[in-house]
Amino acid sequence: MKIIVFLGPPGSGKGTQAARLSQHSGLVHLSTGDLLRTAVKDGSDLGHAADGFMKRGELVPDVILIGLVEHQIAQNLSAAGFIFDGFPRTIPQADGLKQMLKRNGRSVSAAILFKVDSEEVVRRLSARWSCPACGAIYTVIGDNGSISMCEKDSSALTRRHDDDPAVVQNRLAVYEEQTKPIENYYRVESVLREIDAQQTPEEVFKALLQALL
Ligand code: AMP
Repeated sequence: MKIIVFLGPPGSGKGTQAARLSQHSGLVHLSTGDLLRTAVKDGSDLGHAADGFMKRGELVPDVILIGLVEHQIAQNLSAAGFIFDGFPRTIPQADGLKQMLKRNGRSVSAAILFKVDSEEVVRRLSARWSCPACGAIYTVIGDNGSISMCEKDSSALTRRHDDDPAVVQNRLAVYEEQTKPIENYYRVESVLREIDAQQTPEEVFKALLQALL
């Protein structure tokens, strides 16, 4: 079973590339952000627990995330592998994932770091639109009115509340403080691969495939 972890700040293209890699490889794309947004929309207990943290751009507590991921893995035991998009985001989550995998004789195969500078992140997130139905992500630079419908299912595109500039600044600060230390965690385990995520989505995908060889 292949276990791939995507690391990188918000707006670094993890979601877009994970969807693409999943289509290309058949690995299950597991986005904790998407799972939590669905839970909030459904009004489930998980959604109620996560909502406030997400609105403020803070991390949802580790114990909730570890339980959520453990459940998702159990639901997909026959999968060829997983692409974790947005998990782990703290050292305790990375340890939790390690323990979960170890119980089944597995470990993280590769941790891909999507490198992009903060000005580019702010530029991308202020232009990010997404499809509430299928989760497709669009970056609309310039005239925001030029794409208003999802190309896949024609749903009206929406903005994420946490892409508001004030919340973006908080999410970037949270990344620096709580998630960045994971880069070294996986470097020490010799599974970290860094790719330049400032390039076009096509170029980033090529670099990603190269990094996974
Ligand atoms: P994302 O879509 O990955 O940017 O995640 C959106 C929001 O969901 C984050 O700002 C957090 O509030 C929450 N979230 C997603 N993944 C995690 C995680 N691994 N740990 C804690 N909070 C998370």
